Amino acid sequence: MPDKKPASPPLAVVIGGGPAGLMAAEAMAQAGLAVEVFDAMPSVGRKFLLAGVGGMNITHSEAYPQFVSRYAERQAEIDGLLRDFDADALRQWIHGLGIDTFVGTSGRVFPTDMKAAPLLRAWLKRLRDNDVVIHTRHRWLGWNADGSLRIAYPQGELQVKANAVVLALGGASWARLGSDGAWQPLLAERTVDISPLRPSNCGFEVEGWSALLVDKFAGAPLKNIALSVPGMAPRKGEFILTAQGVEGSLVYAWSAQLRQAIEHQGQAKLLLDLLPDKPVDKIAQALAKPRGSRSMAKHLQGQLGIDGVKAALLRELTDQATFADPQALARAIKALPITLVRTRPLDEAISSAGGVRFEGLDEGLMIRRMPGVFCAGEMLDWEAPTGGYLLTACFASGLRAGRAAADWLKSRG
Ligand SMILES: Cc1cc2nc3c(=O)[nH]c(=O)nc-3n(C[C@H](O)[C@H](O)[C@H](O)COP(=O)(O)OP(=O)(O)OC[C@H]3O[C@@H](n4cnc5c(N)ncnc54)[C@H](O)[C@@H]3O)c2cc1C
Repeated sequence: MPDKKPASPPLAVVIGGGPAGLMAAEAMAQAGLAVEVFDAMPSVGRKFLLAGVGGMNITHSEAYPQFVSRYAERQAEIDGLLRDFDADALRQWIHGLGIDTFVGTSGRVFPTDMKAAPLLRAWLKRLRDNDVVIHTRHRWLGWNADGSLRIAYPQGELQVKANAVVLALGGASWARLGSDGAWQPLLAERTVDISPLRPSNCGFEVEGWSALLVDKFAGAPLKNIALSVPGMAPRKGEFILTAQGVEGSLVYAWSAQLRQAIEHQGQAKLLLDLLPDKPVDKIAQALAKPRGSRSMAKHLQGQLGIDGVKAALLRELTDQATFADPQALARAIKALPITLVRTRPLDEAISSAGGVRFEGLDEGLMIRRMPGVFCAGEMLDWEAPTGGYLLTACFASGLRAGRAAADWLKSRG
């Protein structure tokens, strides 16, 4: 049974036991504060554990300028956080928990066994050894008139008087793992400046694939292709054709640009290069070879190796005239436009864009309008592609908020 009595002052409370909140808790415990973590779920770190299911990609080994550029519009703000805790510091911190890391061929960094569970177990033990108290099944509901925190737990409601609070409530994807975005109105009514949460690293929908394409190829991967958005250099990789549209790692990599185009223009264009290693004139030459009585489908397969889902998508997205003209078909193979009209729902996304705007926070991530209340993790207004950038910024912001909360309390005596 968790202790229901708040510890003697100064009490630092963390709401949300994901990587950002636990990092803040560690920093505050190291600063000598009494720390209590409250999480709505029956256990902490559920999304962190899920991230470990397909291989826990905890950070990235690329050079710092490239690393920090991944945070795009919020590069300056995240740079400020990474100065205290960058990818190398994160790796050292993991090693300090007795877990080794390695760099994969793509430059991504993983724990040696690729899993999140051993890391979380070791971390929770260290936190408890440092007297951090973790209350699960305790949902924060906002503030009482006297400034105390409203915390619902199975037997009723607690009023917790904290000297400092770190909110690390996550975004709003995969709500069943705890981060449901329900904090937005609670902060908005206190006039905290919030950019609405939106899907990031997400799938997209087209106006409608043909029934034939969906029946035969929904779920099929398109490998060794490149995707771009108009005006940007293509990126090689793979994606998946879904019943509604497209998803997968390469689509996620473009998701910020695609979502923004949909927000501003009502639709977005994704350009698919089916043969990224072949120049357009070579493709046109191959297609112009006599095909005799062979169908165009057989010709495409024989000359260029385009078959299966790639051939079906080419057929779906080109008209008869293009298909009959080798030059035009070659151009289509190099830049097949896929028109996207919607993101998939936020709950399905890997992460959320939007959140508490940095403009309303000080350097220590304290809400300017709410002295003593700090924010960290995915609930802040930044986004990044997959590749370990998400977790790195969550850890770095948790550390900054925790340290700043401790400093703030000290400065007040
Ligand atoms: C399928 C998937 C795979 C991923 N893989 C990777 C990866 O390989 N690499 C990577 O860098 N990132 C990955 N991510 C993203 C990463 O897991 C998240 O960015 C990260 O967990 C966010 O951390 P956080 O601490 O900000 O929030 P969360 O981890 O979401 O934690 C927030 C916590 O707050 C609690 N909470 C919310 N509201 C309340 C409330 N009112 N009261 C009390 N508690 C509350 C929740 O229960 C939860 O425990 C993945 C995400 C998903 C969905």
